[in-house]
Amino acid sequence: MTEIIETHLYIDGAACRASDGGTYEIHNPARPSELVGHAAAGTADDMDRAVRAAHSAFPAWAALSYVERADILRKVAAALTEDTAAVEARARIFTREHGKILRETHLEISRLGERFVQSADYAERLAQDEIIRATRNDTIVTRQPRGVAALVVPWNWPLAILGAKLPQALMAGNTAVVKPSANSALAPTLSLHRIAELLPPGVVNIVTGSASRIGDALIGHPLVRFVNFTGSVDVGRHVMKVAAENITPVTLELGGNDAGLVLSDADLSPQTFENLYRAAFMSTGQICYALKRLYVHRSRFDELVDGLRAVVDAQVVGDGLLPETTMGPMNNARQLRTVTGMIDEARARGANVLELGQVPDTELYAQGYFQRPALVIGADPALSVVREEQFGPVLPILSFDSEDEAVAMANDDQFGLASSVWSTDTGRAIALARRIEAGYSFINAHGPSANDGLAPFGGFKKSGIGRNFGYEGVTQFQGFHAIAGASGLLA
Ligand code: NDP
Repeated sequence: MTEIIETHLYIDGAACRASDGGTYEIHNPARPSELVGHAAAGTADDMDRAVRAAHSAFPAWAALSYVERADILRKVAAALTEDTAAVEARARIFTREHGKILRETHLEISRLGERFVQSADYAERLAQDEIIRATRNDTIVTRQPRGVAALVVPWNWPLAILGAKLPQALMAGNTAVVKPSANSALAPTLSLHRIAELLPPGVVNIVTGSASRIGDALIGHPLVRFVNFTGSVDVGRHVMKVAAENITPVTLELGGNDAGLVLSDADLSPQTFENLYRAAFMSTGQICYALKRLYVHRSRFDELVDGLRAVVDAQVVGDGLLPETTMGPMNNARQLRTVTGMIDEARARGANVLELGQVPDTELYAQGYFQRPALVIGADPALSVVREEQFGPVLPILSFDSEDEAVAMANDDQFGLASSVWSTDTGRAIALARRIEAGYSFINAHGPSANDGLAPFGGFKKSGIGRNFGYEGVTQFQGFHAIAGASGLLA
């Protein structure tokens, strides 16, 4: 019999139930009748208490030096992975509530720890003020933390995305209230409790529950000084409006419809096909910067389709807990409907759709939120599978004749998150990447497995505002403070 998990809120240094005792159920997307656990259904009162706790904890946390905070962050990183049995247990819960394969849930857990270390490594650089000595004034330009940071995480990569905002907010000197996604709350909450327990009370607070009850209560709270949101464009727009009421600054990491350009001189080796597969289909394609449109030079089109098709067809679709599974179900029924709708539309309009992969357990496949990995060959650019973010396991492949045409097609989109160029000529690839409207471009790679987290990450156009990751990922949680006096002050 499988264990049923129960998770709690965490406010002001203590785990607690929702103020009205409410909980909600989370089911396994591989077999939706299986209950994985109950998460606390926080209320607006709980959210208010969490924000006030973070506000009270802020002065003492902000007063620590960067080195002191870095030491604490390193201890948190070590604690996240030190107990291998506990990590394995959390990873299994994560796979059961989310659907993604066990290898990826482990990857997310370790990524979260790595981001704490990365943020701690900026201590020395963060401590450097800029000094301006000029005719009229001598000025120290320093930065100070903002206060309570509201951190909103989506379901698709909940721990890795938490790793793009929580360590950075803390390193910068902020305290935090985290709202995990209702669709994947159990494993993230367990990791968050472990983190919060190692910090002074109130520094990290966790409120799970339905966004309709607690979302605006967090974003619109007058004591929240910064919002870092990752999710959809529609909710991002709403978040920006609610935050505007208190002139609260926002970072928004929204959707993407990433283009990959395969040039005539690309190295189409077996490793490249593996990389392309991972770029498009990792986490069942539910990644904001997954490869979502592939443009291939006409001279290499057939070769690319044959090679990629073979790799995709070898994938095993099933329960993410089984070692042989390489692709799990989608996370939820709504997202599955979106993707199957796009595939059905492509087929109805005459596209060549290949649904690939091996399905050892057809009974399970019929029950769960499964979609085999699909390629849409020679897709019409007007199809929704090309125009819209699929957020699922389907990749349209289109051809181009000239680089100008490829760039124009890549940029003809509402999003501008990431992109990739595949070529053996590095100079040519970089020159082309510079012409793509994207916040991050990969060369001969694409997606989270190729991102070391050291550069700012975010998008143009509807992909959002601001940047996570890298040094800027920390300093976004701070504001400038200039301290000036007449020239000679700093002599
Ligand atoms: P949603 O926008 O539906 O939700 C994102 C988060 O916002 C969830 O935690 C959700 O809570 C919460 N939320 C909803 N309403 C409010 C509100 N009024 N106030 C505060 N928080 C609120 O996105 P999904 O979770 O469905 O994630 C998928 C989307 O996220 C895709 O479009 C994808 O492109 C994008 N994404 C972008 C990334 C990036 O880095 N650019 C990374 C990952 C995903 P609840 O779950 O409880 O509804």
